[in-house]
Amino acid sequence: MSRRKHAEWQAEIYDKHAGWIAGTRPHMSVGDGWADVVSRLFDRISQALAGEPPSTKIVIIDIKEKYGELRVEILAPVGPETEAAIDQAILLAELRSECTCDACGAPGRMRSTLGQSAWLAVTCDDHQSGYPRTVGERSPKRRIKDRFGVFEITYDRAADSITKTRVAGRREAE
Ligand SMILES: [Zn+2]
Repeated sequence: MSRRKHAEWQAEIYDKHAGWIAGTRPHMSVGDGWADVVSRLFDRISQALAGEPPSTKIVIIDIKEKYGELRVEILAPVGPETEAAIDQAILLAELRSECTCDACGAPGRMRSTLGQSAWLAVTCDDHQSGYPRTVGERSPKRRIKDRFGVFEITYDRAADSITKTRVAGRREAE
């Protein structure tokens, strides 16, 4: 994978999706290794908007790295189905960021510096310098709670998809 410079790939993504982006284009404070993660996210949001009126615009408030992982904040005036699809796209992107080197885009793991106020970063084996402690999984997990119960979400990087397993909840109500 060729290394590409920040301003270049960000402008390319914003230009590709200019039709549904409203307002300013905030600088994305993420490493160049996540260009593909962000690109997939925007493609998925674009697909999710297919059922909305063509005039629908979305405000990108913030795209940044925090505690080692991608954080996405947007304002989307859309219906509940589209909103669910966008939420899913953001979840996929965040989980992908947790196992993608933010320097080069190769498979990586969350690692940290030593000490009490440790810094977190997702790195591959080649870019782990300065982050001696491995704290994340190769297949990142999330625990989420909704009105149907508590679920464990596991991300499969190769398939770029998630599996959802119920760990507690109202199975009897189904
Ligand atoms: Zn790397």
